[in-house]
Amino acid sequence: MKKTIADIQLKGKRVLMRADFNVPLDEHRNITDDARIVAALPSIKYIIAEGGRLILMSHMGRPKGEKKEEFCLDPVAERLSALLGKNVKKMDDCIGEDVEEAAGSMVDGDVILLENLRFYKEETKNDVVFAKQLASLGEVFAEDAFGTCHRAHASTVGITEFLPSVAGFLVQKEIEYFEKVTKSPDKPFCLILGGAKVADKIPLIENMLDKIDYLIIGGAMAYTFLKSRHKGIGSSRVENEMLDTVRKIFDEAGKKNVSIFLPKDHVVSKEIAEKAKNKVVAEDIPDGWIGLDIGPATIKRYRSVIKESKTIVWNGPMGLFEMKAYSTGTKKLAEFMAKLDATTVIGGGDTAAAVNQIGLGKKMSHMSTGGGASLEYLEGKELPGIAALDEKERV
Ligand code: AMP
Repeated sequence: MKKTIADIQLKGKRVLMRADFNVPLDEHRNITDDARIVAALPSIKYIIAEGGRLILMSHMGRPKGEKKEEFCLDPVAERLSALLGKNVKKMDDCIGEDVEEAAGSMVDGDVILLENLRFYKEETKNDVVFAKQLASLGEVFAEDAFGTCHRAHASTVGITEFLPSVAGFLVQKEIEYFEKVTKSPDKPFCLILGGAKVADKIPLIENMLDKIDYLIIGGAMAYTFLKSRHKGIGSSRVENEMLDTVRKIFDEAGKKNVSIFLPKDHVVSKEIAEKAKNKVVAEDIPDGWIGLDIGPATIKRYRSVIKESKTIVWNGPMGLFEMKAYSTGTKKLAEFMAKLDATTVIGGGDTAAAVNQIGLGKKMSHMSTGGGASLEYLEGKELPGIAALDEKERV
């Protein structure tokens, strides 16, 4: 078990917390979705309430080691100040004299926000000198940016060499849920996979086959699975180079008593456009038609599988959900899951975005804040940013 901010004395301490404030901005640099800032609030508020002196750091976008105005964190400081009802002092750099001075003159309960870490190429290179410079600002390191825990960067891994390192509440919750579903899930356990790319999901399937009872497949990746079963897929997206791998997955699943469910009807169109004519076809998709969402019979079937399950982990939309015409499968599945008395875990990235768009995020047991990080957890990989945190002392 990893130590958390609740396990240590915070009063009077400079707490250097890595957060994920990589929020989307519009062309006027207004934040269009502050979910990531809101997600860090429980840790932030706790540290302030305990009398800690909070120094926040984050990345935004991909400035590639150069200071670029469009990636400055000023909009974040502004929104955070509004959410907290207190001034968050925004620094113009993340290391150097000014920042050291500001950190040194903080009083209990103060909050400062460092400038974008990725203005230094040393950040993503996990440079030890840079990590040490960051570390010199604080007395304790708190990791609350799950979305970057799968990366060994200076602010996620390098820094832990120099400071006692604990998890924030957001990372603690992520660990709790992913440990539960990968180590001791309540059964039956249903894994739902969708999205576009099969290749991305293979290591995850291979790792999870030992743990799950049902595997539901939707989204564009379903067509490679269907083709491997000699079904007609028309002009749907397919990864022919993955057909052999998919056949092996079916063999493995058979040996491990895992039932795989594939779509049995589809919403198809001749072109990928919101206004284009579409129809529902059962079983084989005719030539020239593209499968863009699961059909009503498939939704019904998947619903009954989900209803029987005590643990459900979902990663990847059931169709091209960004277009309303092909969002029904994803939406219905989210609605069923929201009503269940089961452990429901939604992988980050597209799936979390889709569920939030429907307004059902709060109804799930856990909405992950990390796309890549949640995939790697389910692949059974050790996340370097989590591995580097201190263990709780055993009593
Ligand atoms: P991934 O990054 O592999 O999880 O894929 C996510 C993307 O897959 C989303 O942008 C979806 O719109 C897209 N997607 C899901 N189903 C389909 C489909 N049937 N055809 C084309 N794209 C799809």
